[in-house]
Amino acid sequence: MPERLRQEAEQLDATDPLASFRDAFVLPEGVVAYLDGNSLGRPLARTRDRIGSFVADEWGERLIRAWDEKWMDQPLVLGDQLGRVVLGAAAGQTTVADSTTVLLYKLLRAAVDASPERTEIVADTENFPTDRFLVESVAAERDLTVRWISPDPAAGVTVDQVREAVSARTAVVLLSHVAYKSAYVADLPAITAAAHEVGALVLWDLCHSAGAVELALDADDVDLAVGCSYKYLNGGPGAPAFAYVAERLQERLAQPITGWMGHAEPFAMGGDYEPAKGMRRFISGTPPILGMLPLADMLDLVEEAGMPAVRAKSVLLTAYAIRVSEELLAPLGVTVASPADPDRRGSHVLLEHDAMREVVAGLWQRGVIPDFRPPRGLRAGLSPLSTSFTEVLVALGHVHDLLTETSESGTSDERKQNP
Ligand SMILES: *Cc1c(COP(=O)(O)O)cnc(C)c1O
Repeated sequence: MPERLRQEAEQLDATDPLASFRDAFVLPEGVVAYLDGNSLGRPLARTRDRIGSFVADEWGERLIRAWDEKWMDQPLVLGDQLGRVVLGAAAGQTTVADSTTVLLYKLLRAAVDASPERTEIVADTENFPTDRFLVESVAAERDLTVRWISPDPAAGVTVDQVREAVSARTAVVLLSHVAYKSAYVADLPAITAAAHEVGALVLWDLCHSAGAVELALDADDVDLAVGCSYKYLNGGPGAPAFAYVAERLQERLAQPITGWMGHAEPFAMGGDYEPAKGMRRFISGTPPILGMLPLADMLDLVEEAGMPAVRAKSVLLTAYAIRVSEELLAPLGVTVASPADPDRRGSHVLLEHDAMREVVAGLWQRGVIPDFRPPRGLRAGLSPLSTSFTEVLVALGHVHDLLTETSESGTSDERKQNP
């Protein structure tokens, strides 16, 4: 390990204005380095106490009275905070609910149903499976055609590709803002404008953006957005997702899972479905109150740090990971498959090598936890508030050691060539 890289990590940690935020998380000693915060964020220590007191005081003591006192509004109260702190969205346009998959379905269906004369959905072949599967099933349900964009897998969907794909036939465009594999950041304002030029709606998947990349949904005239809360928002396994619907569209859209909780008067138990005013109509069933507790804690922490500072650290973390990879791992054949331009790069870095599957398995045994993305990618997710620069260096140092061992068992003097 070159001493200079170690000094650089120490220097970056010492001057990191957010360094102390890391202490707010549960940091067990068995985890040497955690680079999967983009898949499941670490828990906050304060969430332990919050869940305990919720059981004792809020649920245990207030019992069903808490629905009137607090819980009914919780999805929208938390949605508003998420909108203000993370999404760049004014109040009344965000709710926490369901899972990303279910919310994507609800908004996709609502979007295509809003303009029945339009016959196409535009989506891309590199998007996350759930997104692609839903586009196909909604198209089948409504007898629509999917116009697939095939982006460069090492990058993502460009404005020109969207311009070429959309037309007066397009009902909705579904894209991820940050690509889950390459980390490419799509040009959200320009793509949104290109879709609007032909009168189409855009549904943005923000799973790998929320809590990592700054967003300005209102200013960018976004129509619809969905994202999950268990990645950079540390909501915990299976935590509910969020949906954003621009105020100007809310009365026009009807979502397909018409449960009693989205009704104008849920407790009237009336005969016919009548959607509530505003964001409440996008809720279906009883909100998962327990599942929202960790997210509430994390939103407070993100609010304290501020998204501009979170994004600034994210850029430094990914840039450092790329530098270390180029210096330490490139001689062993590792390539960086994420954008070099920080403006086009989210908060993870994809490193590729033919031996990555075995390397990642070896890393997990050592308590170093990134994830493997077939066919040959190590995805290093760098969650800005819980990841240190030293953690990045330690993790990539282990990648170096494992690759050296792998090639040593195959070829001869690798270690001498790459000390
Ligand atoms: C993580 C992720 C999802 C996950 O959906 P769930 O319903 O929470 O399982 C969907 N889309 C993208 C782009 C993701 O990154």
